[in-house]
Amino acid sequence: LESLAKKTAGSSGADPANIANEAAITAARESHKAISNKDLTEAFERVAIGPERKSKVMNELEKKITAYHEAGHAIVGHVLPDSDPVHKVPIIPRGRTGGVTWFLPPEDRSYKNIYELKDVLARAMGGRAAEELIFGKDAVTTGASSDLKNVAELSKSMVVEEGMGSELRNIVFPEESTGYYTITTGKPYSEKTAEAIDLEIRALSEEAMTRAKEVLKANQAILDKLADELLKHETLEEKELEPILKSASMPDSAKLH
Ligand code: ZN
Repeated sequence: LESLAKKTAGSSGADPANIANEAAITAARESHKAISNKDLTEAFERVAIGPERKSKVMNELEKKITAYHEAGHAIVGHVLPDSDPVHKVPIIPRGRTGGVTWFLPPEDRSYKNIYELKDVLARAMGGRAAEELIFGKDAVTTGASSDLKNVAELSKSMVVEEGMGSELRNIVFPEESTGYYTITTGKPYSEKTAEAIDLEIRALSEEAMTRAKEVLKANQAILDKLADELLKHETLEEKELEPILKSASMPDSAKLH
């Protein structure tokens, strides 16, 4: 229960209810006499990102790219000082994803500071950064599309809603509409401000990518090792990740403070 509570931190009461319901269905389908922790974990992941698609066949290259991509998220997230710990990395197709890296906050938190948000951005870039480093600049794949979308949304909200830009600090730009492009059409502010907002957002994404690459370059042997282990075992849990990740180091070039 404690582990499930941690995973669902910040959710409404309806989410655990939904997960429990899914777990009961899973347990019944598997003819279990009671709902196990495994049923609950499966239900949580199903509700969070969709059902496992065991029948989906990935070719060897796609599997290798997925392994490096997730290893990239895991290493960057593990090394950055203000990121949550890595909990589990499966490279099994689920929902629309080929793999996923689960991070678990050690406690339920209401606020995040700029260091923490910048670490969230960098670890989100870890997947594409790994692809670029291993396979080459233009061999990167569409596997990073939701990561990039998350980075765009979070960096925009940091600048526009939280007053966390580097120049545009402690000033917010409330919008009527929540559409991404409303700021670039410049309705609520001057062209000049819209341009400054764009630059701030871009600077945040670029910094995140640079930091992710710096971390992975400094830990390339561990990146290879983790990708290998993922290809061998498909899913690595915290206790299996720990011995591989523990020697990873934080390069000065990626430090914020
Ligand atoms: Zn990713």
